[in-house]
Amino acid sequence: MVNRRIRAIGQFKQVQREAPYQAQRVEFPDGILMPGLVNPHTHLENTHFADYIKRPQSFNQWLRQMVRLVRTQTFDDALAAARDGIEQLLKAGVTCVGEFSRLGASFVALREKGLRGVVFKEFICLRDENLDERMSELIEWLQVNERYESERLQIAVGPHAPYTVTPKAFQRVLEWAKSHCRRWCVHAAESPAERELVEHRKGAWRLWLGRVLRDVPKGFSPIRYLDWLSVLQEGALLVHCVQVDERDIALLAERKVWVVHCPRSNANLKVGIMPLRAMREAGVRVCLATDGLASADSLSPLDEIRFARQLARQFPDRYPNLPPDEWLRMVTINAASALGMADLVGSLEVGKFAEIAVFTVDTPIADPYEALLDGHPKIALVPELVDGVVPTF
Ligand SMILES: [Zn+2]
Repeated sequence: MVNRRIRAIGQFKQVQREAPYQAQRVEFPDGILMPGLVNPHTHLENTHFADYIKRPQSFNQWLRQMVRLVRTQTFDDALAAARDGIEQLLKAGVTCVGEFSRLGASFVALREKGLRGVVFKEFICLRDENLDERMSELIEWLQVNERYESERLQIAVGPHAPYTVTPKAFQRVLEWAKSHCRRWCVHAAESPAERELVEHRKGAWRLWLGRVLRDVPKGFSPIRYLDWLSVLQEGALLVHCVQVDERDIALLAERKVWVVHCPRSNANLKVGIMPLRAMREAGVRVCLATDGLASADSLSPLDEIRFARQLARQFPDRYPNLPPDEWLRMVTINAASALGMADLVGSLEVGKFAEIAVFTVDTPIADPYEALLDGHPKIALVPELVDGVVPTF
């Protein structure tokens, strides 16, 4: 490793020949070396909501409870929650995140700790009357915080969902993002209530949120509505995509968006099972994330894979039984690609950053991938995470 980049990979003798004279030698004889895991969808500011929110419960009840919790959360509460969330990420071997930040507190916490990732600043606008004010707040935050950006931690925008952002507001945010070469991430097609509202203007949210979609023709599924708004562009991140039909899936593949799949969150909020088999067969690009602790049980991507493998056993028609390395790609190189960071991290390759997670297992290792997923690996450390500082656990 030189300048935090991987210089060589291979048998010890060969690597030793290429190592600089003063190179430090660190050995992990029983370790499984992985690229630092990538968790492409988190809500670190919600970490402490885990103590208050009942799981499982219906998405509609959950959303109402979230609205109440969010209203009373201060910046300092959110910062403390994000710091705790980051500790949990590190213990799970995660070195890179796609973070959805409501207050900007998690951007501060991630910067303090030196994690890599993209922070999508959440944007909600339920009424066009408030659009100018909401846009000014967003742009002010982005302009103030751009100066703290780095190659390691980038800023993007997160128009929250089809039911919390008016079509005009979506257009304004996308215009800004495109003109400033920023990525965007949207929650989409998560619950049946969302689909009912967008497609038919019916269901549980009609009176509460129907107004958001006042100027939108009926008949669009959430995915087709987002395409109508030009949200579905190459590199866009769409989180969830559970309530999708064949036409939606074809569109997701054609537009080359990244679908961020959070199966434990979906189960806890009882929104259904994403048709992962059909998506993969159609060529949709899918990565795996935990979501925040308001809906997930941990921030560990390996826990997420273990749950996904259970789903594959229970629902084989809808959910494929993939080999372990395919699952692991979804929390390493594929997730890094979704965040636009695949040339920097996501795999152990010469030239990439040496952000390495070392896992140890108590049992003999026959297949390291199976050992990671079937055993109970401990994370030993994440070397070189913070500019040469080696955090140990
Ligand atoms: Zn989310």
